[in-house]
Amino acid sequence: MDELKKKLFYEQKNGYDLVDTREHIAAEDYCRGYMSFLNDSRTERETVRNAISLAREQGFVEYTPGMELHPGMKIYNCNRGKSLMLAVIGRNSLADGAVIGGAHVDSPRLDLKQNPMYENDELCYFRTHYYGGIKKYQWVTIPLELHGVVVLQSGERIDVSIGRESDEPRFVITDLLPHLAQDQMKKVMSEGITGEALNLLIGSVPYAGEGKDRVKLAVLSILNDMYGIREEDFLSAELEAVPAFDVCEIGLDRSMIGGYGQDDRVCAYAVFKALLDVQDPVRTCVCLLADKEEIGSEGVTGTKSYAFDTFMADLCASQGVELRRCYEKSFCLSSDVTAAMDPLYPEVSEKSNNARLNYGIGINKFTGSRGKSGASDASAEVVAYLRRIFARSGVVFQLCEMGKVDQGGGGTIAKFMAGRNIDTVDAGVPLLCMHAPFEVVAKLDCYMTYKGVLAAYSDN
Ligand code: MN
Ligand code: MN
Repeated sequence: MDELKKKLFYEQKNGYDLVDTREHIAAEDYCRGYMSFLNDSRTERETVRNAISLAREQGFVEYTPGMELHPGMKIYNCNRGKSLMLAVIGRNSLADGAVIGGAHVDSPRLDLKQNPMYENDELCYFRTHYYGGIKKYQWVTIPLELHGVVVLQSGERIDVSIGRESDEPRFVITDLLPHLAQDQMKKVMSEGITGEALNLLIGSVPYAGEGKDRVKLAVLSILNDMYGIREEDFLSAELEAVPAFDVCEIGLDRSMIGGYGQDDRVCAYAVFKALLDVQDPVRTCVCLLADKEEIGSEGVTGTKSYAFDTFMADLCASQGVELRRCYEKSFCLSSDVTAAMDPLYPEVSEKSNNARLNYGIGINKFTGSRGKSGASDASAEVVAYLRRIFARSGVVFQLCEMGKVDQGGGGTIAKFMAGRNIDTVDAGVPLLCMHAPFEVVAKLDCYMTYKGVLAAYSDN
């Protein structure tokens, strides 16, 4: 009976029971690179900028329309500083399709409003408008940094970064003390902190002299000294308040990584690093680092944008291939984080079909919510293909979905790639406390995601 069970049952194993010392070391190496990348990539723009500089070190050149492309060539195309497409040209024609790895580089955060500054009772604040799905109560009383750009009316762009360096000041959103929070504590969690209360404390010293708004004036003059900007310049700015926590190892065994923005920079780094490491591919390998996933993949830099099609059409045109012919033969691994089962909250998970930390890259056949609404639902054939290449390359993987059927759900860029007539499946890193200011992943899963994407890129 035991033998028959062994033969017929599908039993998932903890990844640590499946890997050897050599892989442990490889995973540690990989995660060191990832942690350092994540620590310096706090926004979509910074992620793109850092990726470009790493890619250039590896011989990637900026693509210009009409450029002659030959096998082995490495190119990139930056879309408005917020999204990035890279490719390693394969030996085969694009008529055989491309292998696409896609992930997003935007993360939930607090954007400054267009009229952000105000003074109230001699304290100065920035008003914010949150971006992406957040639990607002998590964003108060934590140190915050400010990153982004201010574009002057002249078009001149000023890069802003305050709080990343250890000697720089940081910001905070205050909350009530428990002693006076009787009424607040009776509210439901979604209303305990309101969107309009998410205002950053940015100064307290008044400008010398008489009159009103003296603190605001003093703070503005500091900003003017630092960046040459006036209040009106906030009208055309994109400033993002993000958690100021450093990326660090978690656990006495150091097996996990904690940090802000791991949804989805943990997968973005995996698809990007796999592209850097792919050797002499048969099919052309493409990496898409997309913006705006957290708000529906909209806009010129989101996955719905024609920018991706333009890039791919250019590559196809250089080989005399029709884009639609290339798409129908292509394969896309949409790499986004999935919800890891949290033993503190077992009630939202269905154990047998929920991702677990250390069980490897999580394949989501579909995402969406309730009756799979909003999912692209990869076909059995596509999932079988992924099983095949993962098994061949020793990639530890698990099949999963996001929590209990009726509980909620989420989406990724998968459906927008699938909508282009590209076979697409989601697979990424299981994550604890998704969308919180500090998210947790397991090192082994990060590495297996990289290894999984590399297996897809390397497949012929
Ligand atoms: Mn995501
Ligand atoms: Mn997300």
